[in-house]
Amino acid sequence: MKLSELYGKGRVVFSLEVFPPNKRCPVETVYEAVEKLAELKPDYFSVTYGAGGGSTAGTSTCEIASYIKSKCGTDAMAHLTCINNTAADIDTALELFKAHGIDNILALRGDINPDIQPKKDFPHASDLTSYILSKGDFDVAGACYPETHVDADSPVDDILNLKKKTDSGASHLITQLFFDNGCFYDFREKATLAGINVPISAGIMPVTNKKQIERMVTVCGASLPPKFVKILQRYESNPEALRDAGIAYAIDQIVDLISNDVDGIHLYTMNNPYVAYKIHDAISKLL
Ligand code: FAD
Repeated sequence: MKLSELYGKGRVVFSLEVFPPNKRCPVETVYEAVEKLAELKPDYFSVTYGAGGGSTAGTSTCEIASYIKSKCGTDAMAHLTCINNTAADIDTALELFKAHGIDNILALRGDINPDIQPKKDFPHASDLTSYILSKGDFDVAGACYPETHVDADSPVDDILNLKKKTDSGASHLITQLFFDNGCFYDFREKATLAGINVPISAGIMPVTNKKQIERMVTVCGASLPPKFVKILQRYESNPEALRDAGIAYAIDQIVDLISNDVDGIHLYTMNNPYVAYKIHDAISKLL
């Protein structure tokens, strides 16, 4: 099914993000995690894509997405990045997705790696979006940034560029993680004023350890509200308390977002069913 059709039906769309196997999370662990997560009955899963690119583009993403669809009976959206891929690489990935019945794609540019010369076929996610739509009956989603993408010249430019993405056919959007709901509400208002009228799911990352927070702040520049900083300071040397406080903070964020008519909640699960279950238990009746 086209996942954009889930939105606008008077309820909050609940999605879970997982990543394919890597050195720290072997393939059996990923399958085990998705099977457990699927019991929460999310509306769909999204499966991330390693930014390296090349002719095997999307293979492990496709494997997990197709396992989720065929074995867990849940819809799945495959992420696909373009900055290190040629049009031929993208064609290969799309053929693979088609062959496995994956017709929902999150079209992304990917981060620019200073050590890799970017390919020239798709400079922006909007270029990839229109290309995918020209290649078959796909439903294409896009990423957006409540606190502005790090490469953007200004917040206004970033919103105008996002409008190019929806004009290219992105049918719904998922935000970068944020810890300050006020940033999301400001962004949503500006997006609407710019004529961006597609549903926007809020990306929520339950932060469960200090290293993870430091990484997130460095990689995506998420601002930390004073309430959040106090939690970190109080529990930084007590991992279990920090995990529980991180879960409670995410629940608080989600309750507020739902009360403010968010279209969807997209949980960055980090392949951790324990955390997702705690959050789901607290919010399932609100969705
Ligand atoms: P774009 O939309 O192309 O934007 C990138 C920059 O270019 C922005 O500053 C924007 O303002 C500017 N821009 C956009 N269009 C134009 C235009 N037409 N003209 C001029 N400037 C323009 N990365 C991965 O490697 N794998 C993943 O699986 C993955 N999943 C993600 C999921 C979500 C929900 C999010 C929010 C991010 C994800 N990322 C992933 C990270 C993402 O690849 C990076 O944030 C990347 O730097 C930007 O990707 P984008 O698709 O938003 O790029």
